[in-house]
Amino acid sequence: MTAQQAIEEARSRGIVLTPAGATLRFLGPKGALSKELKRELVRHKPEILVLLRGDPTYPCVRCETFAFHEADTVCYWCRKVRREA
Ligand SMILES: [Zn+2]
Repeated sequence: MTAQQAIEEARSRGIVLTPAGATLRFLGPKGALSKELKRELVRHKPEILVLLRGDPTYPCVRCETFAFHEADTVCYWCRKVRREA
């Protein structure tokens, strides 16, 4: 798995990757991050951080905490809150 594939795999599972200094934070639905995927993300961490920083991103339109490639996106967490409200 390449760094780009690991990012795409994480996103397809609803996991949001956020660069935080030299570390990478993953936030997503419980159980979405498999042991294998986590290993790939950690293995490619330096490259993933570069890829994430180089991407044009748009914040979640509701909380502005998470970034996406597409404009006007609502993050998993905000969607979850809205559904339960
Ligand atoms: Zn949000």
